[in-house]
Amino acid sequence: MASAKSGKTSEEKNIAQGFSWDEFAVELAGSASGPLNLGAACTDRHVAAGRGDAVAIRWIGRHQDRRNIGYDELAAWSGRIAAVLSELGLGHGDSVAVLLDRVPELYASALGIWKAAGVYCPLSGAFGPGPLKARLDVGQARILIASEDLYLRKLVSSRAALDGLRQVLLVRAEDATGPLPEGCLDFKALVDGATPMAAHSTKAEDPAFLHFTSGTTGTPKGVVHAHGAVLGHLMTGRAVFGLTEADVFWCTADPGWVTSTAYGVIAPLVCGATLLVDEADVEPRRWYGILHDEKVTAWYTTPTAIRTMMRFGAALARSYRDNSLRVAASVGEPLNAEAVSWGAKALGVPFLDTWWQTETGAIIIANAPGQGRRPGSMGRVLPGVEAAVVRCEDGAAQMVTDADTVGELALRQGWPAMFSRYIGGDDRVGKCCRDGWYFTGDLVRRDADGFFWFVGRADDMIKCGAQQIGPFEVEGMLMDHPAVAEVGVVSKPDLLLREVPVAFASLNPGFEAGDALRAELLSFARQELGAALAPREIHFIAELPKTSTGKILRRALKARAVAELDGNELLPDLPPCPGRFDDE
Ligand code: ATP
Ligand code: MG
Repeated sequence: MASAKSGKTSEEKNIAQGFSWDEFAVELAGSASGPLNLGAACTDRHVAAGRGDAVAIRWIGRHQDRRNIGYDELAAWSGRIAAVLSELGLGHGDSVAVLLDRVPELYASALGIWKAAGVYCPLSGAFGPGPLKARLDVGQARILIASEDLYLRKLVSSRAALDGLRQVLLVRAEDATGPLPEGCLDFKALVDGATPMAAHSTKAEDPAFLHFTSGTTGTPKGVVHAHGAVLGHLMTGRAVFGLTEADVFWCTADPGWVTSTAYGVIAPLVCGATLLVDEADVEPRRWYGILHDEKVTAWYTTPTAIRTMMRFGAALARSYRDNSLRVAASVGEPLNAEAVSWGAKALGVPFLDTWWQTETGAIIIANAPGQGRRPGSMGRVLPGVEAAVVRCEDGAAQMVTDADTVGELALRQGWPAMFSRYIGGDDRVGKCCRDGWYFTGDLVRRDADGFFWFVGRADDMIKCGAQQIGPFEVEGMLMDHPAVAEVGVVSKPDLLLREVPVAFASLNPGFEAGDALRAELLSFARQELGAALAPREIHFIAELPKTSTGKILRRALKARAVAELDGNELLPDLPPCPGRFDDE
């Protein structure tokens, strides 16, 4: 890729100075290229260091039942699971799908699969039978570990069609009686009777986990990561969250999302902290109680969850302000400056925005302590990765170094947590990896101080006359209006301008959807953004459509904007409608 000037600001060079991934490899594997097993790095290493008694997982059940699991118990439990899987014929690199809610068996299974050199493929209980079957097929799962309840509700009917699946291990409810479903094995009985096995001596490049992307822009992609990704989780656990053995870390992600593996399992455990797990879904009052009562020191959540908590008001939050939080961070979607400062006012710590993707495997850009913070930005690139803003001119990618120029975010290939491959036999790797760079598909600008600002996904940019409008800028401004709770801005085909921005908004309590509010919001937008960027229409909806990971599903909004055009025969070409798994 051509470059006019050096790709880094002097500040970034300073941050990166002296940084070496090898140091992290030596810490975990004894040498820069030694055998590295994710399961052992997260458990056995701490036991060997005399920390077996420390609490690895503090679990809170849906009905407030609780369980503390020490590092020694987790090490032995995952060793027994590894032994069972090996006994069942799990080969090196075979996939094990896991369909469990946030129960202790989920975490022990992940670690056990890694110790047995298998590939951990967690699925979300929020999916219907179609998407689950598609993921089991594409992921070529050999063994399935599921709760009996989810298996019976979602998978039993497709079992016959799952050719590659050799065994199904069911985690039963404590009070379950009666025979197991046909052809299934009892997870607990097998594991309790096994003798712990030592972790396989896997290499850093051996496959370890398989996640599907959120499917925001099209069919979810299956993305494979290797054991060496743990170096990225150790580094970012420390650099972004400052994790030590004294921390209680809570990550709210759903098990089907890469965040739940990278930061809901690996990062806190490899750093030797206590991982707090809450089985329940977002419920602001419960969440405030957990943050406060469990003395959570580091918290990782999403803009959707933050907006849900904001809807409940600052007074409720302030009553829990006397908490132990040191750092609260967000990922998945842009986090506007208002939400950042709301965190500071309501919880006593600002929300730090972090940026990464399923493909990057770990946080790449962050408002991390030691890196400086700029509310509304994604932050600066972390050490160990080189980031560039690129534009395609005359078919060739050019690195742009002028501040505030919009281009695609590209990362130089080769950081340890980077994905190894997409599965499913398509050529998407060829499309996003070129000349030693990985092209992320996200448009950003970098300011003069090295902070990256999210502009939009390349696919979501609105081409309005001569203007390119990033939906996030328009959304961020509309969110500043007190009536707006959530908003998604998408393009709508237009005969004159090709595309115009239209907004779909849900409202805060106390505001009434109607023509008066619509007119007020449109005029607010024109005043703040200027007529060229302001949305041409505002539609009120009760809830914005979301992916299973809680992201605003802009392609569904786009389809709705297009549908509003009823019968117009002179429509220009519409953006392609990507394929989807059946009932997502
Ligand atoms: P798909 O690739 O299937 O369309 P997806 O990109 O949403 O889905 P993920 O890998 O879960 O799947 O999400 C990564 C994307 O989420 C990023 O490429 C970016 O668009 C968005 N994202 C993540 N963090 C941030 C952030 N802090 N600010 C803005 N966008 C973010
Ligand atoms: Mg993506």
